[in-house]
Amino acid sequence: MSGIDRALAKNPFEVDPTQCYLAAASLKAFSPGNERYPWSHASKPTQIAFKLFFVSICHQINWDFLQRRMFEALFAEDHESMILMASAAKPATISSMLTGYHRPERIRPAERAKYLRETAKSILLDFHRDPTELVSTHRVFGEGGLLELLKKIPAFAEDPLSKKANAFAQELARERIVDFEDADLIPPAIDYHLIRLYLRTGRVFSKDKHISSSLRTGTTHRMRLTKLLREGVSEALSLTASYAGMPVHELNYLEWQIARSRCEKDSTNCDGDWPADLLDGSVTVLSSGCPLRGSCTAYAMPEWRTMVEPELKKAFY
Ligand code: SF4
Repeated sequence: MSGIDRALAKNPFEVDPTQCYLAAASLKAFSPGNERYPWSHASKPTQIAFKLFFVSICHQINWDFLQRRMFEALFAEDHESMILMASAAKPATISSMLTGYHRPERIRPAERAKYLRETAKSILLDFHRDPTELVSTHRVFGEGGLLELLKKIPAFAEDPLSKKANAFAQELARERIVDFEDADLIPPAIDYHLIRLYLRTGRVFSKDKHISSSLRTGTTHRMRLTKLLREGVSEALSLTASYAGMPVHELNYLEWQIARSRCEKDSTNCDGDWPADLLDGSVTVLSSGCPLRGSCTAYAMPEWRTMVEPELKKAFY
């Protein structure tokens, strides 16, 4: 049995509450901007359908690139037309929509076309052609709540930690498409950007040398390690949000932007300016450099900047 397997017999990850508290202190002044998007004017069923299709295939690809291309290729003012287009999606539809992506091996056209077709079929059959049936209770949790209903759609049901389902709920709340009564309870949506950020900032760590070493080299692909690590990050994010007095979905969005624009896998920009092409500029008011510098372990100890997320080619990661 290898050292990693021995470590994984138990949960090798721990959450550091002090690091969460310090990170929260740096982030609590954030106030989300009132962003408008090219689809914000559309009817509620149209916005829900567009977001549902988008999130159903949002894995392993740049979020802004995918959303922009999907808006150009799939969006229609009439939600029924959009559902019919998605129900007929073929691999060639996806290849054409995402042509020019800098990592063509990640386009995976057959897989994404299948998810679009399955999602459209579910709206047609399970929700009687009406995407607003998903949010008719205006609740995320409980019987008939959004998270329960999303289990009927394969793209949203596969992940044990419900990343896409949580991300979809967060998007509806954040863009004010749906006013959920329990929006404050929407769970974190943990992806590889957040895993990297939480490891580097020392909020989630492992004392086991085999685990730490595998995260420094990005050489592990084990499902159990990834699942336990994601659970740790989810717990740490919820704790940070609670210390910051901020809803989880707001902090999730803020830190995801910090991770993907400053704390990238192969490079970090701790002290420089924000990139010009930020999805939402409201994050820049926190500080000119990375807002987490004051408490970040990897800022104080640059060797921690080599810490990276595990590689996993799954549609929920
Ligand atoms: S200070 Fe640097 S290493 Fe730390 S989270 Fe920010 S960008 Fe990443």
